[in-house]
Amino acid sequence: MSELLLGSIEAGGTKFVCAVGNDLFQVEESVSFPTTTPEETLQRAVDFFKQYQVSAIGVGSFGPIDIIRNSKTYGYVTTTPKPNWANVDMIGILKKSLDVPMYFTTDVNSSAYGEMIAYDNLGIKNIVYFTIGTGIGAGAIQNGQFIGGISHAEMGHQFVKRHANDLDFDGVCPFHGDCLEGLAAGPSLEARTGIRGENIPMDSDVWDIQAYYIAQAAISATLTLAPEKIIFGGGVMAQDHMMHRVRKHFKELLNGYVVTPPLEDYLQIPSIVNNGSATLGNFALALRELKSI
Ligand code: ZN
Repeated sequence: MSELLLGSIEAGGTKFVCAVGNDLFQVEESVSFPTTTPEETLQRAVDFFKQYQVSAIGVGSFGPIDIIRNSKTYGYVTTTPKPNWANVDMIGILKKSLDVPMYFTTDVNSSAYGEMIAYDNLGIKNIVYFTIGTGIGAGAIQNGQFIGGISHAEMGHQFVKRHANDLDFDGVCPFHGDCLEGLAAGPSLEARTGIRGENIPMDSDVWDIQAYYIAQAAISATLTLAPEKIIFGGGVMAQDHMMHRVRKHFKELLNGYVVTPPLEDYLQIPSIVNNGSATLGNFALALRELKSI
């Protein structure tokens, strides 16, 4: 009997990670390559999966994307400012060469799903996952299902209260200027200081300003969704001092209004190492898709 193989495509704005795994969601093979043109990048994904007999693929993409199944543009990357990628029929192109069931969602939803699977032993079914990187994205699961109606959630572009020492900065979001992404994503750090984020000293005020905005996003998530955990992915958040700062601002800003689990548990970095949350989530979503048909 041949083993069931599942596929994962983590379609990031900077790189694609493709993986093949078994039904225990263990990675058997994986490859990553830079996100260039849609034609070249999707062909590389196709070439990778052509080597295996996958039964279904979970695709978690940068966005915005169209996830409404009866929409004319279902499976498309839609209004992204990323050059060449607006209005690209990602799932259509993949399905031309890989005729297997595919589950399509945002990369952050995939990560949220992977973290939920990883916390299965605690029975967690309500989770919010933020990634803080070149952009800010967020995925959310309520009672085991992704939230959303007309589309997927876009909590990375929520509006936030300005930090008193940051009133002169316009923000860098091409759509909103000073939304959360415009004020707290990686490029905002360089726009304020002229120094790339990884080279900014730890004692710079910029970190505390960034943490102040991220803490507000966590408060909004708490007040609207009341999740059991809020996870923060991305390189910046992997630094201990950042989670510490976010928890401090969260506590001060929330001011005891809502009872949460201890903040060391409630506000967390991913439990899956090496950015593996989305891959695990995609495997699980691929299996879910396979079982639903
Ligand atoms: Zn924005």
